Amino acid sequence: KVVTRFCPSPTGTPHVGLVRTCLFSWAYARHHGGTFVFRIEDTDASRDTEESYQQLVEGLSWLGLTWDEGPDVGGPNGPYRQSERSEIYARVIQQLLESGYAYKAYSSAEEVESRHKAAGRDPKLGYDNFDRDLSEDQIAAFEAEGRTPVVRMRMPAEDITYVDGVRGENTTPAGTIPDYVIARGDGSPLYTLTNPVDDAMMGITHVVRGVDLMPSTPRQIVMYRALSELGIAQQVPEFAHLPLIVDERGKKMSKRDPRSNLLAYRDEGYLPEGVLNYVATLGWAISGDRDVFTVQELIDNFDLANVNSNPARFDEKKFNAICGEHLRMIEADQLADLLLPELQSRNLLPKEPSAEQLRILQEATPLVQERNSTLGQAADMLRFLYAGEDFELDEASVAKALKVDAAEPLDGALDALSELSEWTTPAIEETLKETLVDKLGLKPRKAFQPLRVAVCGKTVSPPLYESMELLGRELTLDRLRAARL
Ligand code: GLU
Repeated sequence: KVVTRFCPSPTGTPHVGLVRTCLFSWAYARHHGGTFVFRIEDTDASRDTEESYQQLVEGLSWLGLTWDEGPDVGGPNGPYRQSERSEIYARVIQQLLESGYAYKAYSSAEEVESRHKAAGRDPKLGYDNFDRDLSEDQIAAFEAEGRTPVVRMRMPAEDITYVDGVRGENTTPAGTIPDYVIARGDGSPLYTLTNPVDDAMMGITHVVRGVDLMPSTPRQIVMYRALSELGIAQQVPEFAHLPLIVDERGKKMSKRDPRSNLLAYRDEGYLPEGVLNYVATLGWAISGDRDVFTVQELIDNFDLANVNSNPARFDEKKFNAICGEHLRMIEADQLADLLLPELQSRNLLPKEPSAEQLRILQEATPLVQERNSTLGQAADMLRFLYAGEDFELDEASVAKALKVDAAEPLDGALDALSELSEWTTPAIEETLKETLVDKLGLKPRKAFQPLRVAVCGKTVSPPLYESMELLGRELTLDRLRAARL
């Protein structure tokens, strides 16, 4: 049975890299009908915050990524916060020491460096495994000096090989990694210990994570082997390291890049389905010629073997295009429901909208379903319908369309529309075309751009005739008049 996990440290905002790691681990578990575990790696009290944890939970829930075991839902292998597992780690450290897989190391960093120097080696070479086989007397002497030892894991004298699910076979030659620290002088455990211990105890079968963590894998495999001998681990999991996410200049995308913040997308009204879809394309493709798909299609098709090892470029245009496609994929009724709170938060609709206001929203929704990528953009496009007294013209649009030759089309439209007997889209269209294009001989752009800005406030708007119909005759005429002055 497949068991995957997502185990972030709660620092900072939920960023795209984290979301992608979570998504791929989740999708792999879901594809195989397995278990997805959410664990919090909060062993660094100076950096971890409750706020960051809450934001993670909020962001992942918004995306619809649910976990089967975790701090909030519990599970058979809890607790799922590392800060609550100190006793477990202390016990494992003790077992590793007693069995000789780990040992206490007393050397200071300065001592290590000076030994390297004395032997003519690069002083920055790292730990020299000096304390591996100290005699009882040496240990007693260090203890008497009051030194507080760290605990180090003994690296084996053999190559370490594993097959990465994304990158294929990987070998670390014997002797290249020094014995590494698993617990500090005060006894507190490090990531090097807590992460594999938890993965082992939680039965993780596939470790899916960013390539930046790849250097720790051989060390963790050594830990796993020891844990297996001690009866703590059942098996060494498979590892799959996801590609780096880079910006348009090819540089690693920063966690602090504003475009990296998941919650900002939510707040701007991106649809979670669109964000999820785009993030899935960062290193994976459903097929060569398609990049829009549903969550179910992702689950059905996802496989680690199809993950690309090359860096994945975060492409804002593609992101918006995919999110726009998802806006068009949902039913207009459902979209209207989603737009309602957006309009309410903009004070464009009251808490309890009238039946008439809802009817207009229903009819207006399909008009903004095209050309927008987010609920926020779509709601802004509907502003002209609900703004009432607060209706404002966009300055740049005014300069472009109303400050130049606008009198003729505005007057022509006013005349034609005041006399129109029925106020419907086809009638409005017919009379405006006839008056402005046929009779006055105006080019369509010259004729309709000023009307659009006068009525909708902007050069970018929903279709003009439909907008006029929805706005109603009176308000439409008022606005054309106002623009004329
Ligand atoms: N807490 C680690 C991190 O956020 C998780 C590493 C892993 O997935 O093994 O970087």
